[in-house]
Amino acid sequence: MSIETSAPKEEQHHFSAEVERLMDLVVHALYSEREIFLRELIANSADAMDRRRFEALTNESCALPATPQIRLTINKEARLLTISDDGVGMSKEEIIQNLGTIARSGTRAFEKELKDAKPEDRPNLIGQFGVGFYSAFMVADKVEVISRRAGTEDSWSWTSEGKGQYTIAATTRETAGTTIILHIKSDADEYLEGMRLENIIRKWADHIAWPITIKQGEE
Ligand code: ADP
Ligand code: MG
Repeated sequence: MSIETSAPKEEQHHFSAEVERLMDLVVHALYSEREIFLRELIANSADAMDRRRFEALTNESCALPATPQIRLTINKEARLLTISDDGVGMSKEEIIQNLGTIARSGTRAFEKELKDAKPEDRPNLIGQFGVGFYSAFMVADKVEVISRRAGTEDSWSWTSEGKGQYTIAATTRETAGTTIILHIKSDADEYLEGMRLENIIRKWADHIAWPITIKQGEE
């Protein structure tokens, strides 16, 4: 006799040991420069939009929308800061690969350079070593990523509290791109203030070529 089981809606995954180590390094070593999480997430959105524009040259189904943007939304009541883009997005495999695995060999070197660096040089180091995404956990106790790969119809969510594991589930996103939802930590209220975010953007993301908007309310 066979028992029919329906496919589980959520999949639990564990971060690779290297990712866990990187997350720990980024979150602790850069605690005094927490604001750079926003630079890292905006840079990722801008990269993804550059990539989509490039792919669209040879693949019509990847075409950008009429007014591509990076949208920041603050929901104070729910303590959420959302960063949403019209970038190339990620398939399920890409999410697992890019956000949970990384086989980069740089962890050791990163750790050493971080230890030797002057505090003011540390933010540049995470940029160089490409560990930017995990800086979200400096200001958020839970991070959700919702992504739909350009040229495809499936959307996936990735959710983690940064403690060893993450969950992947099928979801719906109307258009291609990626949405990062940060559940802001109780000691990080400042990142729910529009003025504060504007200042960080002016300081760190002035060179970004795509329009960045900030609004209050529901995403
Ligand atoms: P890096 O940007 O240096 O590669 P990150 O830790 O910042 O390192 O990001 C890891 C990877 O996750 C990126 O290379 C990219 O493939 C993917 N990624 C992160 N954010 C996004 C996004 N908004 N849209 C598409 N892919 C993303
Ligand atoms: Mg990055």
